[in-house]
Amino acid sequence: MLKNHMWGITPAHSDPNFALMKDMGVKWVRTGYPFPFENENGTVSERFKKADAVIDRYIAEGFGILCSFTGPGSVRYSAETGKTEYCRAVPEYLGDPSEDRYSRLLFEAAEFLGEHTKKKITWWQIANEPDIDIFYGPLSEKENINYLLNATRGILKTNPEAKCGINLGYINNYARMLMREIYAVADSPFEYLGIDGYQGSWQMGGPQSWNAYIDETAKLSSKPIIINEWGFSSLQWGEKYTDPERKKHYNQDVCRHKHWYATWGRGHTPDEQARYISECLPIFIGHPCVIGNFFFRWSDTETCWQCGEADCPAECAWGCVDCNQKPKPAYYALQEGIKKFS
Ligand SMILES: [Zn+2]
Repeated sequence: MLKNHMWGITPAHSDPNFALMKDMGVKWVRTGYPFPFENENGTVSERFKKADAVIDRYIAEGFGILCSFTGPGSVRYSAETGKTEYCRAVPEYLGDPSEDRYSRLLFEAAEFLGEHTKKKITWWQIANEPDIDIFYGPLSEKENINYLLNATRGILKTNPEAKCGINLGYINNYARMLMREIYAVADSPFEYLGIDGYQGSWQMGGPQSWNAYIDETAKLSSKPIIINEWGFSSLQWGEKYTDPERKKHYNQDVCRHKHWYATWGRGHTPDEQARYISECLPIFIGHPCVIGNFFFRWSDTETCWQCGEADCPAECAWGCVDCNQKPKPAYYALQEGIKKFS
């Protein structure tokens, strides 16, 4: 689907170089809000106000927004405790996800967000990769499904024009269960399905593996597909082992060993990252069900959000620009691809 293809990126940078982003050719950014309230009285949090200002800035700069509504939580590095552990993303006052009170207060927060943003935001990503244990955490399947439906229906109640979808982490049996239970049903509130994939990094395979993944998810969801996240890490391994006995908790083996077990081509290097991009774009553009893609991500990061280490290949090297926003070969591959296929 060439026409109106959403050319997007996840910026996730505190001070993005807008001119450089525009010069690359992206028109959309994937960003979002934290849970809006601090307490049951509906006091809006400072974090929410800051996110709102960031979104307004992107809109003022001319970008469209694919807006994320927070998920229930994630297993991540906590600077406070120095450990990787489950951190709730919704306040304690909601209670436990099994309680009616939690559902009601979540719905009310979503209603507020739909109303607050109806003049500026149409496209929503509800939660993040809800098929992956790092993100659904302690929620049961039923609680996870309720979360996704509640947040979506809350937004739609106050903004019926909103187009909501979830983003799958990858194709697995949990993802198939979600498509069966909330997409392939008569009253599904979803307008599109987001899919994320890192074949050659988090998964085996490479650019060609996208074809079967898109085919299956388009068929099982019967909705248009947006590639909400895709990319290739440009760092093969970290140098410094601070935990040689590996006694800490790690989400997965890449953080544990600071090394990618999956790879593609000549490995995780800046040049191969660029080549990966050049091979993926024609696949996305050529597939009749794909309406947009959001490259992950704008810039490299100083530390890994999963384990806290500065040289961890898991999360530090996805950028098309480095930490100082100097373009990597990936930047030019994206620029060339967008120009060629727009
Ligand atoms: Zn890590």
